[in-house]
Amino acid sequence: MSDIDLSGRGAVVTGSTSGIGLQVARELARAGANVMLNGFGDADEIEKTRAGLAEDCGVTVGYSGADLSDGAAARGLIADAESAIGAVDLLVNNAGIQHVAPVDKMPPEKWDAILAINLSSAFHTIAAALPGMKSREFGRIVNIASAHGLVASPYKSAYVAAKHGMVGLTKTVALEVAETPITCNAICPGFVQTPLVDKQIDDQAKSYNMSREDVIRDIVLGSQPSKRFVEVDHIAATVLFLCGPAGGSFTGASLSIDGGWTAR
Ligand code: NAD
Repeated sequence: MSDIDLSGRGAVVTGSTSGIGLQVARELARAGANVMLNGFGDADEIEKTRAGLAEDCGVTVGYSGADLSDGAAARGLIADAESAIGAVDLLVNNAGIQHVAPVDKMPPEKWDAILAINLSSAFHTIAAALPGMKSREFGRIVNIASAHGLVASPYKSAYVAAKHGMVGLTKTVALEVAETPITCNAICPGFVQTPLVDKQIDDQAKSYNMSREDVIRDIVLGSQPSKRFVEVDHIAATVLFLCGPAGGSFTGASLSIDGGWTAR
């Protein structure tokens, strides 16, 4: 059990079958929160994760395979979570995808999917969760944006646009609820070694005929002064902090966890 006690709180973590979201879900469950998992993957693996988390942490853990490219499904996730785990006090908008291509070669369907999953889903989940948070006079919303919410890189037009939008959405929601005990913040990670980034490494190794090691050193970590990947644990611990009592005065912030990337 962590020092921060979230017993009795209910958390929805979107995109929590893998990578950052899964670690965030684990951290919140370890702190005593009931958790609603969401995302895609092998059904048996997901059930193993769900049941294991529930048993190890002694909390209720639900799962929804809601496809967050659909706004109604994103809103439905909040309703389903309320049935499965109780009130949604903590909302972590984390689901995301990537597609790398020059803007004039970006397939329109990829643009639409990235905007829908990485940005619009957060609008829908927040809109669905806020009334309950207001009536219970408590809420913590954490949006997993990116260093790409603050600065751009070529060939990532849809992702950069969505993540800048996520930072803007965060600030707006924070201001709208500033006088209530609800906070809304964004976390802006640099590169984290998850399946999302592994796929980019593989693609770039193929395109440039380079080894994975050279892609990681020269391309991926080229923009990250630490020359180390950000660890999922560091992001999960920051989410936990924001959900705990000491997080109460953080709102509308964009917290960089990027090995110095945006300090340049
Ligand atoms: P990941 O690929 O490991 O996890 C993505 C999760 O989103 C998975 O659970 C997946 O099933 C889910 N997902 C994808 N499409 C979905 C959909 N339509 N509906 C519901 N769930 C869906 O990726 P990750 O690296 O852990 O990324 C998590 C978040 O962190 C993303 O928003 C990403 O943009 C952001 N981020 C990642 C990095 C990085 O370097 N890995 C850096 C900054 C920000």
